[in-house]
Amino acid sequence: RSFTGTRPISRVRPTSSGKGGNIRVIVRVRPPSNREQGENFSNVVKIIDDNTMVFDPKEENEPFFYHGVQQRHRDIMKRANKDLQFTFDRVFSHEANNNDVFECTTKELIKTLMNGYNCSVFVYGATGAGKTHTMLGRGDDPGITFQTMTELFKEKDELSQDRHFEIGVTYLEVYNETVQDLLNPGPALELRENGQYGVIVAGIQVHRIDKSEKLFDLLEQGNKNRTQHPTDANAESSRSHAVFQVYLRMKIISTNEIRLAKLSMIDLAGSERGAATGYSGARFTEGANINKSLLALGNCINSLADGQRYVPYRDSKLTRLLKDSLGGNCQTVMIANVSPSSLSYEDTYNTLKYAMRAKNIKSNMKKNIVNSDRNLNHYVNLVDELTKENEKL
Ligand code: ADP
Ligand code: MG
Repeated sequence: RSFTGTRPISRVRPTSSGKGGNIRVIVRVRPPSNREQGENFSNVVKIIDDNTMVFDPKEENEPFFYHGVQQRHRDIMKRANKDLQFTFDRVFSHEANNNDVFECTTKELIKTLMNGYNCSVFVYGATGAGKTHTMLGRGDDPGITFQTMTELFKEKDELSQDRHFEIGVTYLEVYNETVQDLLNPGPALELRENGQYGVIVAGIQVHRIDKSEKLFDLLEQGNKNRTQHPTDANAESSRSHAVFQVYLRMKIISTNEIRLAKLSMIDLAGSERGAATGYSGARFTEGANINKSLLALGNCINSLADGQRYVPYRDSKLTRLLKDSLGGNCQTVMIANVSPSSLSYEDTYNTLKYAMRAKNIKSNMKKNIVNSDRNLNHYVNLVDELTKENEKL
């Protein structure tokens, strides 16, 4: 059952469209699961239009279920005072498929990458909210990772008259503050900073690919190595971040200009225990057993959104890994996934607050251009170069 009432919205939070900033924030509401669709199903999100949604819309005379127990609406309102309107760069209903999400989120990143800027895509949300579905999808509805890479190769073919390309991919997992290569399981890996390529993972296998078919095999192989199967919505799997990275090296034939860019696509750990404290600018506070990386990501995003000079990248593995992929040098897309059901009331509310805080990252983008003859001769190719870095250890 969905809310259809016309009661005016009592409280509107000031929002911005995100235009002009380097981060686009998208919310995706997944379809209710069979369990949620039971007799007591109660929808806590109402989509107004492509940009606007209301969390916990007030409906007089509607029975309201909180954790499956019918509540008197007045009691809930006294407790939480919700009925909040949120504006995002885009809001997707349960009817959207992965292609719709791709078309309006990561598709436009490809041109940005080709111009030599780093890009990152996060899927955020509680366990079971649809993060992995958005990233990987399934046979009849491939996820945005596949669609983005297919687009990248399409664009590469179109540009291949004018530039030489090299593409290397890595796939890793950040789990319990350690980095593991998903394509070559072994001991934990360390992070390093490289003058040209930014943050790199020492010892990780970089796979050169030149068409998207090969990528599908790699991702499939990597997913088998995740700490838990990606669709297994248990506490363990919800604490690992899967990070797929694409290193691009382009040589513009006419000018010999070299452009480097990196795309990071991150299937974040479940947010259920890393809830934000609020949208009023307060720092995220750490509770027991909170995922350190998710908390640190929230703090970095807060600092960037507030325009602060100090951004605490060093507070976790994930934020250290993504230091060159957040803020200044990067175009970012955050996709916040939520369930429509009152069973996920707190998770959805916390996710929307986190997503609100992620908006408004303002910074100057900087192209990664290496443009000297010395560099041209020196940087033989991307994969060799990254591998050489790894061997220096
Ligand atoms: P998460 O990775 O956030 O823990 P999943 O992506 O594994 O969540 O989604 C949980 C379940 O819901 C899975 O069975 C998944 O197939 C299903 N699901 C999630 N989003 C959608 C969607 N948009 N359409 C159809 N099924 C979905
Ligand atoms: Mg998942």
